[in-house]
Amino acid sequence: MARTALVTGGTRGIGAAISKALKAEGHNVAATYAGNDEAAAAFTAETGIKTYKWNVADYDESAAGIARVEAEIGPIDIVVANAGITRDAPFHKMTPDQWHQVIDTNLTGVFNTVHPVWSGMRERKFGRVIVISSVNGQKGQFAQVNYAATKAGDIGIVRSLAQEGARAGITANAVCPGYIATEMVMAVPEKVRESIIAQIPAGRLGEPEEIARCVTFLASEDASFINGSTISANGAQFFS
Ligand code: NDP
Repeated sequence: MARTALVTGGTRGIGAAISKALKAEGHNVAATYAGNDEAAAAFTAETGIKTYKWNVADYDESAAGIARVEAEIGPIDIVVANAGITRDAPFHKMTPDQWHQVIDTNLTGVFNTVHPVWSGMRERKFGRVIVISSVNGQKGQFAQVNYAATKAGDIGIVRSLAQEGARAGITANAVCPGYIATEMVMAVPEKVRESIIAQIPAGRLGEPEEIARCVTFLASEDASFINGSTISANGAQFFS
């Protein structure tokens, strides 16, 4: 059944793969981004998927953007909170600014994305909330106190939303990717990246499409009894 899906940060990296995969399932997809107009235009030219620009860290911008998507495409039944950033530093060097930027985007951004669509999902008695967490939220990571806090927070969010939404036909789940070959990971110095790959039993980075397939499954009718769960896709790097 064709539904309306919103993917934040859906124009690049993992989000772009998710947007494309949801479109391939027959859904009407809206992909958002923060400021990279060039990447968004190239994405629309390639896929035909409509893009919207707003900052997920801002509640009013998110609510207004979501209202625009719902007016133009339809009520949102599938929401994928994917937009995320890193601002890495060892804790003793981490600035309050680095802490707040990551919390505002990755954690408050999830609230700002899901809250405006939640009442509609409750009324229509259907919803799929999927949050892109991370292996580093499950196990912690050097120089990522801020990032790991947000990604562990995502797991708490979906476990709580699952309990609130279950009777209303809404599921909320998280996907925890391991290291995936996107710009975020390719920006890491090559030596560090090599040492990361050496720690992955699969011996390679994951592909964005491997995460997208977890999302399309969770978004499907087949996943109706999976609620409050996390799917780990990390090449056996960490078990949880
Ligand atoms: P990318 O950096 O490749 O893409 C990020 C996307 O998010 C872009 O579309 C970007 O928009 C958008 N974005 C960033 N900040 C904001 C904001 N404030 N408001 C709206 N949109 C924003 O990221 P990845 O694809 O690598 O990561 C996607 C998600 O997966 C993140 O949540 C990340 O934490 C998580 N993840 C990634 C892993 C990896 O190995 N890559 C591993 C585990 C989890 P714009 O193009 O305008 O900048």
